[in-house]
Amino acid sequence: VIQRPEEVQLNRAKLPVTSEEQTIMEAINENPIVVVCGETGSGKTTQIPQFLYEAGYASGDGIIGVTEPRRVAAISMSQRIGLEMDRPREVSYQIRYEGNVNKDTKIKLMTDGVLTRELASDFLLTKYSVIVIDEAHERSVYTDVLIGLLSRIVPLREKRGLPLKLIIMSATLRVEDFVANQNLFPTPPPVIKIDSRQYPVTIHFNKRTPNESEYLEEAYKKACKIHRELPDGGILIFVTGQQEVQALCSRLRETFPFRPNQTVVEGDTSGRDESRANRRKRFKLDDYAIQAIDEEEGEAASDAEFDVEEDKADQVSSRQPMFVLPLFSLLPSAKQALVFQPPPAGCRLCVVATNVAETSLTIPDVKYVVDTGKTKTKLYDRNTGLSTFRIMWNSKAASNQRAGRAGRTSAGHCYRLFSSAVFNDEFAQFTPPEITRRPIEDLVLQMKAMNIEKVVNFPFPSPPSRESLIVAEAELLALGAVQPVKGKTLASGSRITPLGRTMSNFPVAPRFAKMLALSGQHDLMPYMISLVAALTVQEPFLEGKPEDDNQELPEDAKQRQAYFSQLKKRWIGQGFSKMLGDLMVLLKAIGAAEFAGLTPEYCAEHCLRFKAMKEIRQLRQQLTNSVLLAVPNLELSLDPNLSPPTELQSKLLIQVVLSCMGGKIARRIPASVIAAANVEDKSKLRHAYQTLSLEQLVYIHPSSVLFQDEPEFILYQELFEGNKIYCRNVLELKGA
Ligand code: ADP
Ligand code: MG
Repeated sequence: VIQRPEEVQLNRAKLPVTSEEQTIMEAINENPIVVVCGETGSGKTTQIPQFLYEAGYASGDGIIGVTEPRRVAAISMSQRIGLEMDRPREVSYQIRYEGNVNKDTKIKLMTDGVLTRELASDFLLTKYSVIVIDEAHERSVYTDVLIGLLSRIVPLREKRGLPLKLIIMSATLRVEDFVANQNLFPTPPPVIKIDSRQYPVTIHFNKRTPNESEYLEEAYKKACKIHRELPDGGILIFVTGQQEVQALCSRLRETFPFRPNQTVVEGDTSGRDESRANRRKRFKLDDYAIQAIDEEEGEAASDAEFDVEEDKADQVSSRQPMFVLPLFSLLPSAKQALVFQPPPAGCRLCVVATNVAETSLTIPDVKYVVDTGKTKTKLYDRNTGLSTFRIMWNSKAASNQRAGRAGRTSAGHCYRLFSSAVFNDEFAQFTPPEITRRPIEDLVLQMKAMNIEKVVNFPFPSPPSRESLIVAEAELLALGAVQPVKGKTLASGSRITPLGRTMSNFPVAPRFAKMLALSGQHDLMPYMISLVAALTVQEPFLEGKPEDDNQELPEDAKQRQAYFSQLKKRWIGQGFSKMLGDLMVLLKAIGAAEFAGLTPEYCAEHCLRFKAMKEIRQLRQQLTNSVLLAVPNLELSLDPNLSPPTELQSKLLIQVVLSCMGGKIARRIPASVIAAANVEDKSKLRHAYQTLSLEQLVYIHPSSVLFQDEPEFILYQELFEGNKIYCRNVLELKGA
């Protein structure tokens, strides 16, 4: 029996899932697979693992496994559950880089990618007695694949007399891809709907839709108005990325400086909302849209007090201090946790967040949602191999999730910064599952490692296109990770090779995995591990992001960057080390930061992103461990400070990188071609490179250490689109 802290006990009693405990547990006891749908904040993630624990699912041989599509959720929810149960050691998490699983672990929260990897070594998941797939509505690639695999594993475990329970949890009722898919579950699993106490949310559409350069300003203005004129209650603002979050946070903090001990003058604002709220019906899951109103119609009249003239919004009259907090996935976890704390007394909480707050994390006491309607999506172009981040309209379903965040504790309001016409005409109904939108060679390699020869026949909840399956299989073939089944063509499936099997042990993309698999000689491994770690971590440097191209930087940042570009030149030197180009910069940056003790101060001064450098450190450790497991006879120890590679090692590193990056080569446009071109083409061709495989014009990004050198042949890690097509992580190829 769990002894919960009193405060936890009180909060728990209020959650919708608590009153359904018996129904949920009966369904789970009687069925191998159960789907649970419940509004975000109804208590699924925090409570259902505890129900299972109390029902004895972790007291035998197996433990309770819970998967999350987001790392943030895996960490923060494991901490929360541990605290609620007052048994922090028994609730652990594991994400790609880190974890705190121990011999007492009973509930393990992990990313869906981590569990997929575990399947390669233990296909029946014998460690677990229950698997809970959380946030299934997000339709992340690994969630979808896990559901497909588990649909086969559950009956296999049944046969072995070691039953495994599968619980699929969703924040929306749109579960037909799982439930009505005969190929997946011949007997449809029961669906339990948690009746949530969702309060009405009034949706206000903008009259006009701001353009790309205006929506952030619009969000700022709306937040100011709400704060100045509407009753108490937290504000949650959805924007698209970390930069926007930080920009908006600092503007709001400037406008409403937070001073502890500020005197608070309460305006008489009570009641106004509630009376309107009471006239409305209760809300059901997925249904917010029926309450939508346009600002110019009906309801808007009663909101007249809110429609102040624009200029009034610029006056500072903060009746109450504002407590502004950022929330995005790269934010350090301690700072993320602040959003769950009540704001200082007398303050209004205002959280500026990315998608993370859509369903993964429930921020308490939000009454007002400001929705820009935008989301940042990574788009892939199969033909060019180019990936870009685009700011796009969200889907209707996701917008309704965002709106729903305003109705958890009382009636709320959602201010959509776009018109209802745009919403109706330009927003897709749902966000398509991720598996249909991105390359899947990493996934196909994992499946091959599980000896799935014909991936086409796999029971995907929503199958990826045939084309992307073919592309993935061809790429793995080119890397030597798979080979056609003997005597057959590739179309009838392929089988993993020994190289592919080694590659599948490394938790990185197939080309990086191959780099590791080929570095078992001449003591290359520590360098390759560091390179792969640096290449797979997001934005290790604080400069050179494509978004920064046209941005005006403050003077001190400019100076730091100028110093950093000098430093980079010094790092690569003049001799053989220069051949490794940006890769040498990465190696030296890691070595220098570690040598200085990896402090936030050192990183800030040297344009290194502290959180990224810490991730690199963790990933180096983890890759070192995976390499030692996969290649047992290798002599390998982790030298944090990483002395620079020798000439021979540098040359070999280049060879390995080259054999794994096949095709990513570009050649500078020769001077003679530029001279012969007409005026218009001349400016385009200057500094340009032509890719060998794609006949495309690309440019070395200004942040590259080879930007000024312009060597004749270069190898690049990837292309990305800014105002031109740029090469990232460039090295020089001599005598190619
Ligand atoms: P669901 O998974 O159904 O969306 P959760 O179990 O995540 O719901 O949340 C249930 C409640 O627990 C919410 O009111 C949420 O705000 C609260 N909660 C979740 N995590 C924390 C935390 N770290 N600190 C305080 N409250 C939390
Ligand atoms: Mg949840």
